[in-house]
Amino acid sequence: MVSAAACPFCAIVTGDDADARVVYRGQQVTVFFPLEPATRGHTLVVPNRHVADLTDLTAAESRDLGEAVHRTARAVRAALSPEGLNVIQSTGAVATQSVPHVHFHVVPRWSDDRMTLRWPAEAAEDGPAQDRTLSAIQAVLPAEAGVVSTEDRRQHLSFIQAVITRMSQASSSSKSWLLPIVTLTFGYAITHKSIVVALLGCLAVLVFGVLDANYLKQERAFRKLYDEVAAGHAVPPFSMNPALASPAGTKVNYWPDWPDVRSWAVAPVYGPLLLAGVGIIVWLICR
Ligand SMILES: [Zn+2]
Ligand SMILES: [Zn+2]
Repeated sequence: MVSAAACPFCAIVTGDDADARVVYRGQQVTVFFPLEPATRGHTLVVPNRHVADLTDLTAAESRDLGEAVHRTARAVRAALSPEGLNVIQSTGAVATQSVPHVHFHVVPRWSDDRMTLRWPAEAAEDGPAQDRTLSAIQAVLPAEAGVVSTEDRRQHLSFIQAVITRMSQASSSSKSWLLPIVTLTFGYAITHKSIVVALLGCLAVLVFGVLDANYLKQERAFRKLYDEVAAGHAVPPFSMNPALASPAGTKVNYWPDWPDVRSWAVAPVYGPLLLAGVGIIVWLICR
């Protein structure tokens, strides 16, 4: 194992290698030319920390590297107008890694260049074997998804919190819209002895009630999602799908469930209004 002290890429990162052609020197990554470029503009992107194995990078380092590779590819493309380019990363001797410091090769390509890259003509696995490989990888993937930085989790939580706030704002604005409508229709129904307008008033109460109960339902679903993310359970980073936090088989729809309708925020508000409307209708009929 080559230590950081003996690592040629670390020498470039620290600036000890005065001969290196450095394209870019950043806080997290360094971009430079290899000693022996495979094509014109062949560039290497490395993390500043000495890490030999790609899979040992932190989530933040891999994000920074990914961005740097993308930016380098764009710069190379804009400056040299190649016909195409390869991005190559090799981990392990078997994969032809020669310097034990993670690096991405950005290799501009021309049809007459000297690069050779050959993929095998035959498939390594047949369909059923691929299915077994697929499930083997998927089996460990949730654990990998669980490795979310605290910063990402905090950001995710604040997104969810924003939805919760929006839902409760929508709920209170539906209440504030309903009150003048009810006052107007019920008042009109009483003074003009109109059953139709009283019915309209009741309909409005029902519609707003269902709407509000649905806001409450969504708010509850997002609160559950919030708890799941806060607890560090396997919710994909930045997912805003509240169904992920609900028991399997739960249908996602926009009809409030009984507990939402019965809740203190819905039943005691819309119930009496509906009763008042029904009372007015009964009074108008029996008059
Ligand atoms: Zn190194
Ligand atoms: Zn290499």
